[in-house]
Amino acid sequence: MYRFALLGNPNSGKTTLFNSLTGSTAHVGNWPGVTVDKREGIYKKLAEPIAIVDLPGIYSLSPYTSEEVIARNYVLDEKPDCVINIIDATNLERNLYLTTQLMEIDVPVVIALNMMDAVEKRGDSIDAKELEKRLGVPVVKISALKETGLDKLMERAYAVSKVERKGVTVIEETALKHLISDIKIALEGQGVDNPLFHAVKLAELDELEVLMHKDTVNMIEAFKKQYHNDTFGDDYEALIADGRYKYITKYFSPTIKRKNEEKFIVTPSDKADRVLTHKIWGIPIFLMILFLIFHLTFSENLFFLGGLFNGKVAFSGTAFEGVFLSESGINSIGVLFGNLVESLTNLLSSVIRSILPADSWATGLICDGVLGGIFAIFSFLPQILILFLFFSILEDSGYMARIAFILDRALRKFGLSGRAFLPMIMGFGCSVPAMINTRTLADEKEKIATVRVIPFFSCGAKLPILTAVSGAIVSSFGVANVDLITYSMYLVGIITALVTVILMRSTSLKGDTPPFIMELPAYHKPQPKNLAILLWDKAEHFIKKAFTIILASTIVVWFISHFSFSWEFLSDAEIDGSILANIGKFLQPIFTPLGFGSQLNSNGWVFIVAAITGLIAKENVISTFGTLAACINVAIAGSGDSGVASVVAMISGTGITVPALLSFIAFNMTTVPCFAAVAAAKGEMPTRLHYKMTLLFWIITSYIVSSAIYLIGTFWWTAFICLTAFIVLCLCIKLHNNRKDKRGAEN
Ligand code: GDP
Ligand code: MG
Repeated sequence: MYRFALLGNPNSGKTTLFNSLTGSTAHVGNWPGVTVDKREGIYKKLAEPIAIVDLPGIYSLSPYTSEEVIARNYVLDEKPDCVINIIDATNLERNLYLTTQLMEIDVPVVIALNMMDAVEKRGDSIDAKELEKRLGVPVVKISALKETGLDKLMERAYAVSKVERKGVTVIEETALKHLISDIKIALEGQGVDNPLFHAVKLAELDELEVLMHKDTVNMIEAFKKQYHNDTFGDDYEALIADGRYKYITKYFSPTIKRKNEEKFIVTPSDKADRVLTHKIWGIPIFLMILFLIFHLTFSENLFFLGGLFNGKVAFSGTAFEGVFLSESGINSIGVLFGNLVESLTNLLSSVIRSILPADSWATGLICDGVLGGIFAIFSFLPQILILFLFFSILEDSGYMARIAFILDRALRKFGLSGRAFLPMIMGFGCSVPAMINTRTLADEKEKIATVRVIPFFSCGAKLPILTAVSGAIVSSFGVANVDLITYSMYLVGIITALVTVILMRSTSLKGDTPPFIMELPAYHKPQPKNLAILLWDKAEHFIKKAFTIILASTIVVWFISHFSFSWEFLSDAEIDGSILANIGKFLQPIFTPLGFGSQLNSNGWVFIVAAITGLIAKENVISTFGTLAACINVAIAGSGDSGVASVVAMISGTGITVPALLSFIAFNMTTVPCFAAVAAAKGEMPTRLHYKMTLLFWIITSYIVSSAIYLIGTFWWTAFICLTAFIVLCLCIKLHNNRKDKRGAEN
């Protein structure tokens, strides 16, 4: 089958084009570095099916980042039948820099001038015919987003893929041109593929090339002795880069007609950035936006208007009681849809319960075990989706890229670069792709530190824990708001991540912080299509998981909570003697400092077993409560199968306190993540020792953070002890590092 590869700068629209061509639903983000691995799909509209490969975005074919190496090796070694070089036409000249390097490889090339819709909207125009003549390869205007010009692009790509193409270079400087052509001839003699490309890279003394062609390097050394450039000296890499830009300005720039010729026009994006990336206000504004999102998703008292309604409840006495308007006020959209789903699942489970014979163990398994477990997490699906909708809007609009920029500015001196924030922010979705994305980090130590803290950015699967426990705190103890608690716990996760990453970067994982060069993409309206794809993916993933892993887990939990070690069947009331209860009780003392250990009454082990099932999938924490609710507190469990109801059952069945519940949330957020994330982390660790240390790191961090929350929540004055201990720790590290630096300087 024919293979066409998509190559282009970050954020030039490769993934959008890939999705449009193949009908696939890969993640599109308005920041550089979203696609790390290559991805394949099939284009079917030509005479034969074509495999399309989406490569990571790069600015150059140099070997400085892993993306560059992946993309470059793909084109050189896998020899695609055609490379579609996608160019952000709103930034034509800069994007052509990569093109001038690609042209040096002996591979058929087609240029896709993307974002033509945006160019035309600005009133600019590009003479594609003229550009095509000057480049010597086909140039097709497209809009990946509006899906215009795609068929033509593919037809031309198909046509050129049948013809061989020899590389050409734009380097015109006479002396260099000679050097390159001499090296090229030498390489050709050795039977090297793509001799021109390798010759240019060798002249640049590119690390990979120097290793590959050891015998040819001396040609350059000899040449350097005779030839000296006044501006660039011996730095041929800079000389060649300069040559490319000069050529681009001279021959390619004239093909653009710009409506506004002035160099520095202040775009609306720039104006927005003056506020949103402000030195002092940038971070507070981000925190406000984040709170607004949580408020719109989780609040039961939207805009704090509850007073106006005086405790009225809409549709009281019907199945929809409290769906729109609850005692506390207007419900946010997340709560509204959550309530709707909850009403439906409650209805469904009461219908099923009425059909099945009462008092049979099978009814118990189906209703309490499976339905109780699965329905406990279902009412959170709308909230998960709505939270992600907001996050995706922030991402697609280009705002998240600014956050990386702001945080880079604030935390660079602590060894943390903005580059590392992109995968961290991705962790809000799911830790697995986020960990894979850390491959974009050039510094290995920074990468290890980043992988370790990614789980602290609470992922979608942890959301039911946050929401259900917060909801139960509000309804059992009558304190605070759900939105405030969930927001604070997210912040606890973020702060834990930042603090631990800084600690690691100043002790065991010290290293350089590579410069963070990222152009900020222009703000733009989020695309409904992208958002829909993302939400659909998320929903599908959730439902699949609910009916596989989580379903299986609830069945296992039900069985081991209804059998004793001697395999006797136990009724709901006898749960205390079950296998599950005994495992939980055995571990209970370990969790006493965290508030949900031995100090709870006889049912207190439920929190521990729930946290353990969370290691399989974090949704399991709440589904396990749902499965056990009927046994722990019969009266309350009867009121519905929602997650909040099952946590309420746990609270009244165990006598747990508010600080202990908060500590429980924090523990689940910061401890060892689910299996999938552990496997991903293992894959990203350079050695087994690093992997083991990572597991240890999670266990210790969660233990410290949770017990601090419990202690401070229970005895407020312990805050001073915790703070002092933390300051002493920081001082010790600082002193130790200073001593080491001094010794290093003396030697
Ligand atoms: P990649 O990093 O090269 O994979 O780029 P993406 O496909 O993730 O796209 C980057 C951003 O550019 C996204 O926000 C897209 O919605 C936007 N985009 C992509 N193609 C077009 C286009 O043809 N026109 C406009 N106006 N925006 C586009
Ligand atoms: Mg991409």
